[in-house]
Amino acid sequence: SPAIQAIDLVKDYGTGANAVHALRGVNVSFERGKFTAIMGPSGSGKSTLMHTLAGLDSATSGRILFGRSDLTKMNDKQLTLLRRNKIGFIFQSFNLLPMFSAEQNILMPLTLAGAKPDRDWFKLLVETLGLQKRLDHRPNELSGGQQQRVAIARALIAKPKLVFADEPTGNLDSVSSAEVLTFLKRSVDELGQTIVMVTHDAVAASYADRAIVFADGQIVADEQHPTAEGMN
Ligand code: ADP
Ligand code: ADP
Repeated sequence: SPAIQAIDLVKDYGTGANAVHALRGVNVSFERGKFTAIMGPSGSGKSTLMHTLAGLDSATSGRILFGRSDLTKMNDKQLTLLRRNKIGFIFQSFNLLPMFSAEQNILMPLTLAGAKPDRDWFKLLVETLGLQKRLDHRPNELSGGQQQRVAIARALIAKPKLVFADEPTGNLDSVSSAEVLTFLKRSVDELGQTIVMVTHDAVAASYADRAIVFADGQIVADEQHPTAEGMN
């Protein structure tokens, strides 16, 4: 079964003549262990799709199947538990806590949940992301690429099977972007994660197994093995 699936997903902001139709009946399913990029112009509905799939935003109609559960039928408490335990998030703006070290930031989801870290997994993430020598540093002592790698480790520390990344390279130079994307690809290939990444960047999309293109609240293209040239 797919990791997550949207069926006839509709999202309107507002009602009546002023309604914005952000998602116009989207049908899409994301296979387990695959890295998918979502592309499309600004305002086409990419963030709305990601936020509704992640249960951060409610759908107007349609269904979202995650395993045997339908997210659109869950209450706030169930959605909070699902996000905490099953889903990882990577944002463009890192959202690291400035007063805490890199290590404390990485472990924060577990600290907040009162859970013990799996030290082997922590070590694997830190080594794979090249953060061994940066663990005692605070965010302002790290480069943009290092901060984003800390944010990725934090998103993966609780071993979520499904990870949503919103423009994860949006604030990075091309060298740091390549590091981050290479790691995301490895995470999928070696650790079995399912990643859904929103990006404006055709080069970033070329790291994915698949690219979906949005326009005006609908999917207008769906490519396997996208190339940077093909997506431009
Ligand atoms: P993208 O991520 O592709 O830039 P969005 O999903 O952010 O697109 O936006 C899709 C449409 O929904 C746009 O017309 C946008 O202005 C509108 N929209 C997004 N969020 C809101 C909101 N909170 N309230 C009203 N309209 C919104
Ligand atoms: P089942 O599929 O029988 O519910 P699993 O333990 O395989 O049991 O999956 C538990 C939850 O985790 C399900 O909601 C499923 O969609 C999700 N899941 C499992 N494997 C993956 C994966 N590789 N990527 C994303 N989600 C996954």
